[in-house]
Amino acid sequence: MFETLSDRLTSVFTSLRSKGKLTEADINATAREIRVALLEADVALPVVKDFIARIKERATGAEVAQALNPAQQVVKIVNEELIEILGGETRRIRFAKTAPTVIMLAGLQGAGKTTLAGKLARWLKAEGHAPLLVAADLQRPNAVQQIQVLGERAGVAVFAPEPGNGVGDPVQVARRSIDHARHAQHDIVLIDTAGRLGIDAEMMGQAADIRDAVRPDEILFVVDAMIGQDAVTTAQAFLDGVGFDGVVLTKLDGDARGGAALSVRHITGRPIMFASTGEKLEDFDVFHPDRMAGRILDMGDVLTLIEQAEKAFDADQAAKMTTKFASGENFTLDDFLEQMMMIRKLGPIGNLLGMLPGMGQMRQQIDQIDDKDLDRVAAIIRSMTPGERDNPKIINGSRRARIAGGSGVSVGEVSSLVTRFFDAQKMMRQMAGGMGIPGVPGTRR
Ligand code: GDP
Repeated sequence: MFETLSDRLTSVFTSLRSKGKLTEADINATAREIRVALLEADVALPVVKDFIARIKERATGAEVAQALNPAQQVVKIVNEELIEILGGETRRIRFAKTAPTVIMLAGLQGAGKTTLAGKLARWLKAEGHAPLLVAADLQRPNAVQQIQVLGERAGVAVFAPEPGNGVGDPVQVARRSIDHARHAQHDIVLIDTAGRLGIDAEMMGQAADIRDAVRPDEILFVVDAMIGQDAVTTAQAFLDGVGFDGVVLTKLDGDARGGAALSVRHITGRPIMFASTGEKLEDFDVFHPDRMAGRILDMGDVLTLIEQAEKAFDADQAAKMTTKFASGENFTLDDFLEQMMMIRKLGPIGNLLGMLPGMGQMRQQIDQIDDKDLDRVAAIIRSMTPGERDNPKIINGSRRARIAGGSGVSVGEVSSLVTRFFDAQKMMRQMAGGMGIPGVPGTRR
């Protein structure tokens, strides 16, 4: 996600950090480099201009001149301005005073609208709502079936046109779905509408008709972050043709340029509300401008990390681990294995580590870590006796050979695992002795 931009900005700041006092020339050079980085990432020119003007104005002002560490102050300013460009506060869904809340999705065909409808439905359900997913995209062959499959996977009810009963009229389908939602006690109606491959008057007309028929509480414009500068033109066209309240960025997993999507908020004045990062239903999250800025500037997205951890771990297990972490005592190979399995539950390990501060630059190495490595580690540990797991110091040469034979790996791999375990144990002790783990209660800080 925005990796190229992130790498560029990080290197701009790295060279800045080596400087003490900043001259005007330093600030100009930094501004120029940031400008190039943004333009290369496809951020729209007017947005870049405004952004750079704000940075320059603040960087030449008193807040930097008087700062203890001027370079860091500049990074802080860039972070704050980036959050601002991305929308400032996190914008949540506004629910209607009387149910159902009607949410309508609009966007081009292929933007990921239908997939997003499934993701949003799943997420809303997990938040305690009873959404109804409505298939009002009658244009694209299979769209109705796709919604039905998604609804089933998300465990969410679907409203689709019945054959011979208003088929072909998405406005009718949308209107009926609201009545149905009232009767069936759904508190949210989520309407998927038809898109076209390009901007098209008929599509806009149809979306506007649906809008007028159901008067949505929220219209979300869904846009593929990979389409470059077209994201801005498309957003403008939908704003004029249908209007919308919020933006959903999709395919943010694709990297690189994606910067045009960063321009959408600034150009349309509408907040980015959700981000979609893959093809699976769970590849979806609320868009937090501050966290996204933190990621782009490689300041680590520790909040997201902690939230994901909370979702993946059961509370008892987490509490047990926290105590172990905090004491640094009795940390055994079984705990080591359990800890690795927990980390694995968090998803691909590269993504996880990429969220830690300073890790962005290590992304390449991280990408090479394979989940299969973890399977091998598990196999090695499982070939040990309980006594060996509790007290790995007893694992001598002959034990290593036996364990290697049992788990089908080389003796060298067993040795390297044992060494890694001792390193981890040492790290635990150091944490317990001093720093504590940020965000984990009960550890010293
Ligand atoms: P629609 O025409 O706007 O309804 O688009 P679809 O929901 O059918 O999505 C078009 C294609 O994009 C499908 O192949 C989806 O699997 C894929 N897709 C949707 N969202 C994402 C995403 O966030 N990341 C990636 N990589 N693919 C996505």
